[in-house]
Amino acid sequence: MTNIFQKNQSLVLIVDDEPFIRTQLRLALEREGYQIAEARDGVEALILFEQLQPQIVLLDAIMPGMDGFECCLRLQSFEQGKHTPVLMITGLEDQESVDHAFDAGAIDYVTKPIHWPVLRQRVKRLIQQSQLQQQLEAANQELQRLVTIDGLTQVASRRKFEEYFSQEWQRMAREQLPLSLILCDVDYFKSYNDTYGHRAGDRCLQKVAQAIKDSVKRPADLVARYGGEEFAVILPKTEIEGAMILADKICSVVRQLAIPHCNSQVSSYVTISAGVAEDIPQPGSDFQEIISAADRALYQAKIEGRDCFRQSTKQVSANFSLPRWGA
Ligand code: GH3
Ligand code: MG
Ligand code: MG
Repeated sequence: MTNIFQKNQSLVLIVDDEPFIRTQLRLALEREGYQIAEARDGVEALILFEQLQPQIVLLDAIMPGMDGFECCLRLQSFEQGKHTPVLMITGLEDQESVDHAFDAGAIDYVTKPIHWPVLRQRVKRLIQQSQLQQQLEAANQELQRLVTIDGLTQVASRRKFEEYFSQEWQRMAREQLPLSLILCDVDYFKSYNDTYGHRAGDRCLQKVAQAIKDSVKRPADLVARYGGEEFAVILPKTEIEGAMILADKICSVVRQLAIPHCNSQVSSYVTISAGVAEDIPQPGSDFQEIISAADRALYQAKIEGRDCFRQSTKQVSANFSLPRWGA
């Protein structure tokens, strides 16, 4: 539910069963420019908290029905409750009560009679802290997104590739299932840049990346930018036959983009070459070997004419001859 109060004015939810205390708190905090909402007990507090999404809750500990400790605990179960500071205000000063309040999730504790100058500073500081915390979390999320997504092509970054490969390699080792890898490299891309300029080269990479991404359908498959004009496709639970069909499809869709490349020696359009490898990982083994295998197959595709795909020789089987798969 949306906050009915203006976003730039912090809303304080005051929860106390004594009307006199509520009024005192309201008047003191309104003077500081806060918006105020009041609840008479724990149940009402939970309802208002969910509806109004306050920036801070001032919570009395002892109330009839649901007390402040119970209420505080329940507030933590709301999504926004994880960010909203709860300041307990109470006459209880014994160690057990203080411990109880912090255990229930209160961020701070002030005792009655209220020391107004202190309360004023605490409220201000707690709101600032929680806003900073939220900004920090948002920045961290954005940072995480930036390191896992390649800025130019919007497919997974090299870093994400390494992380995901390692994770899936171990998973396939545990389950003893095959994993395939396709490495793709744009043909004569240096001369594309030389002919059409670096900016056009960037746009070309974006289109190629999108075309590869669109060819891959399973949620567990991952397309990543492996290097400058190289892309990798990780295919968990996929045997070489399936991976070869996909490599064929990827080569075709890139060709069908029909991006003019007048200085390519293989076509009048931009094309790619691909190398494919498959393995059933052994527990504790290194995934570097399958990358090298796919890379060797890619090299083979390059020397055998480009605009085609080849599989790692280790995987060649009697009923699966290379020329059948050449583009
Ligand atoms: P091959 O067919 O053997 O793959 O030849 P190639 O010219 O594609 O290979 P080479 O490795 O010689 O050149 C790759 C080029 O890719 C050189 C580099 O400037 C270009 N490149 C790498 N990253 C980017 C990028 O982000 N944007 C642009 N525009 N070009 C890039
Ligand atoms: Mg290259
Ligand atoms: Mg290239």
